Amino acid sequence: MIDHYKIARQRMIDSQLTPRGIKDKRVLDAMRKVPRHLFVDEALYSQAYSDFPLPIGEEQTISQPFMVAVMTEALELKGDERALELGTGSGYQTAILAELCHKVYSIERISPLANRARKVLDKLGYGNVVVKIGDGTLGWKEEAPFDAIIVTAGAPDIPEPIVNQLKVGGRLLIPVGGEFMQSLIRVRKTETGIEKDDMGGCRFVKLIGENGWKIERE
Ligand code: SAM
Repeated sequence: MIDHYKIARQRMIDSQLTPRGIKDKRVLDAMRKVPRHLFVDEALYSQAYSDFPLPIGEEQTISQPFMVAVMTEALELKGDERALELGTGSGYQTAILAELCHKVYSIERISPLANRARKVLDKLGYGNVVVKIGDGTLGWKEEAPFDAIIVTAGAPDIPEPIVNQLKVGGRLLIPVGGEFMQSLIRVRKTETGIEKDDMGGCRFVKLIGENGWKIERE
C-alpha cells in the first residue's frame, strides 16, 4: 500500500528544507522519519506537512517544519546529549529531539497539551522522553545541567535559570523580543560567560511564566 504521509515527508524535505539550506543529515533523517501528522488533530492530517504552523488547541501551535529544522540544526546535536525543551506543545519537536539526543526533558505549562503529547510520544515508543507540566521559565533544576536547551515560545528576555542550567559548551536556542515578533537567538556557554548570535526574525506564541511574559487573565 502506498504510504502517502511518507511521500509528503519526503516532499517537505525536498521543497521546504534542503532548498532553504538545512544540511544536517541527522536532522533531515529525523524529519523524514517522524510522522508529524500524528501530532495534530485528525482533521488537519492533510496539512501536517505544509509550510506553515498549525493550531493544536488551547490557542497554541505546532511550529512550521522549517523552523523546527532550523532550531534543531542550530543545536548541533551528535547523539549523546541530554536536552531540555520548554514548550512541549504537540510533542513533535520533542520527538525530533528524541531521535537525535540521548534523553529529552520537556516542560509544558498547559496540562491537556502535555497529556496529549505524552500519549502520542508513548504510542510511538519514545522511551527517552520525560514530559512535565509546569513553568519552563524556571528550568528543570533536578535534571540540570543540559547540553542543549530549546525554547519553542517567544520570551521578552532570556530567563536566567535556563542559562544557569546550560553546561559549558552547551547551546541554547530561544526566540527573544516583543509579543508578536522576535529574533531567534543562539547562546553558547563558554568557560568565561556566554556568546550570543542572532539567527534572524521569527514569530512564536508567548513564553508565559515567572521569567517570561506575565499571565494576563486566568
Ligand atoms: N514545540 C511545539 C511543537 O512541536 O508542537 C510547539 C510549541 S508552541 C509554539 C509553544 C508552547 O509553549 C505552547 O504549547 C505553550 O503552552 C508553551 N509554553 C508557553 N509558556 C511556557 C512555559 N513557561 N513553560 C512551558 N511551556 C510553555
